[in-house]
Formats: sequence, structure tokens, C-alpha cells
Amino acid sequence: MIYCENCHAPVAEESAKCPYCGALNAVDGEKQYMEQIYAAAYYYEAAMLYNAHQKAGNVRQAGGKY
Ligand SMILES: [Zn+2]
Repeated sequence: MIYCENCHAPVAEESAKCPYCGALNAVDGEKQYMEQIYAAAYYYEAAMLYNAHQKAGNVRQAGGKY
């Protein structure tokens, strides 16, 4: 349990927003922000790998044709 920086009400640590005043819970807000960045980086990397595989597959297919 942590306390809202704005109204000092007790707030569950996993909640990003204070249920009483709606202020952002800075600690978890930042954590969620970082998680979003990591998730975005993960999906970006996955997309890049997928594209690389697609390209490699196309090259292999083209190589087989000619
Ligand atoms: Zn509050």
C-alpha cells in the first residue's frame, strides 16, 4: 500500500491512478510507461525479425525459380 501524492489517500500499489482524486500514481505510472516502451520495443524487434524472415524466404524462393 502506498499513499497518493496528491490527496494522501491509501492507494493500491498496482493501481496507476488514485481512486479518490484521480491523480496519477507516479511510481506505477512510470512503471507502466516503461513496460509500454519495452513492449513496443519487443513488438518492433519481432516485426523486424518477421520482415527479415519474409525477405529471406522471398530471396530463397526467387533463387529457386531462376
Ligand atoms: Zn489522490
